[in-house]
Amino acid sequence: MIRVTNIERFATHDGPGIRTTIFFKGCHMHCPWCANPETWSQKVELLHDEKKCVHCQKCQTVCPASAIAFPEGKWQIDRSRCKGCQTCAQECLNDAITFSGTDYTEDELVAIAMKDRDFYEESGGGVT
Ligand code: SF4
Ligand code: SF4
Repeated sequence: MIRVTNIERFATHDGPGIRTTIFFKGCHMHCPWCANPETWSQKVELLHDEKKCVHCQKCQTVCPASAIAFPEGKWQIDRSRCKGCQTCAQECLNDAITFSGTDYTEDELVAIAMKDRDFYEESGGGVT
């Protein structure tokens, strides 16, 4: 299996032509200018979007591991406690919690990429 964070179709900034960009997890480069730090770890990771969070504390209530807290009203997670059950994300009505990391087989990734073959051939694009 190959773990990815995102598959971007019709990408136009990651090489010539129209492309499908596949972001793998587990990148060891750790470049200081990296715009996708969620790709660094091989693990499935919880992401919290502070802009979407209304601090309703529902996620804290449902977390079976008591991993989420609100010290001084700020959302905080203890990642050493988190079991990755994803209950918090399912209960968050604002989609403030998401998980980065989905496993695909090679054949599944090739099948997704090949959906846009006509665009690659017309534009000189491909897969990044
Ligand atoms: S359930 Fe969602 S909106 Fe509510 S505090 Fe948790 S992350 Fe924020
Ligand atoms: S993924 Fe599960 S254990 Fe981790 S913070 Fe969310 S509810 Fe708690």
